[in-house]
Amino acid sequence: METPDPKIELHVHLEGTVRPGALLRIACRNGVALPASTEAEMAELYRFRDFPHFIQVWTMTTHALRTERDFREVVVAYAKEAAGLGAVYIEGIFSPAEPVRYGPSWDEVFSGFCDGVDEARERFGIEVRLTPDIPRDLETSPEGMMEAAERTVRTAAKYRDRGVVGVGLGGLEIEFPPEPFARIFALAHDLGLGSVPHAGEVGGVASIRGALDALGADRIRHGIRSVDDPALMAELAEREIVLDVCPTSNLRTGAVRSLEEHPLPQLVAAGIACTWNTDDPAMFGIDLASEHQVARSLGVSPAAAYEAGVQGALCDARTRERLAAIGRAAYEV
Ligand SMILES: [Zn+2]
Repeated sequence: METPDPKIELHVHLEGTVRPGALLRIACRNGVALPASTEAEMAELYRFRDFPHFIQVWTMTTHALRTERDFREVVVAYAKEAAGLGAVYIEGIFSPAEPVRYGPSWDEVFSGFCDGVDEARERFGIEVRLTPDIPRDLETSPEGMMEAAERTVRTAAKYRDRGVVGVGLGGLEIEFPPEPFARIFALAHDLGLGSVPHAGEVGGVASIRGALDALGADRIRHGIRSVDDPALMAELAEREIVLDVCPTSNLRTGAVRSLEEHPLPQLVAAGIACTWNTDDPAMFGIDLASEHQVARSLGVSPAAAYEAGVQGALCDARTRERLAAIGRAAYEV
């Protein structure tokens, strides 16, 4: 069998990688009731229909994950899947503020995911780093929201030597602009963590501007709406800010009307480094290989995507050099 091209994935929610059979096993073990009892029923439930249904599946998954073992297994299972498709480096996202509301402690969530990082490296030789997300729309008071955000950052910093390299901002982008989180991301920066917020997925240019100026973004997750502002595109190219683009996710969530209209080729033509990513592969019915096919069909180059991954990864210099060497060997650049 042909060896797959090496790939770097920087935008994948680990909760969104749990395949139907795995979720069934985990929920059963934890005594969590699911609206399906066989793998086939579960697969049918997972099948993407529309955005509200996607949110239902997402919530069902996050509620079933309860223990350190669950979190570890989620990382290991995805690392195995992605490594089999050529991935050599992944930055996985998880949202710790969710599960701590109904069971595990902050430390159990973080140590479980970090154990997964170690096991993935040992078993599959893949480097995984973690970038926990702060939800901007947590169903709590504004004070509770900021408290959870600060807790995410402080706990992330505690696990820096175990693979946590940055923090992100997720959730409803239009309703909750980035500016109120400036203090939280300044703290993250002071504690040595990178800033990798979601912005410019469905929100406009102002949201990307806010992520850059108020949150000091090192990279932007999505960022596709920068296509609406040539000056912003020029700035992203000039400052070498990498965008973590997810074409199928954008189609599924309605952020773009069709793949033919996806702005990835325009962003690349403007000189912006873009990585290709699955976002929530299990829930969108895709994987890293199929997503690469989609991106290739838009006429962009996998070598450039790999290079963008090397450039944007929040890893240490030694790992980056190793990734660069893998890229040079495979893509002859
Ligand atoms: Zn995302």
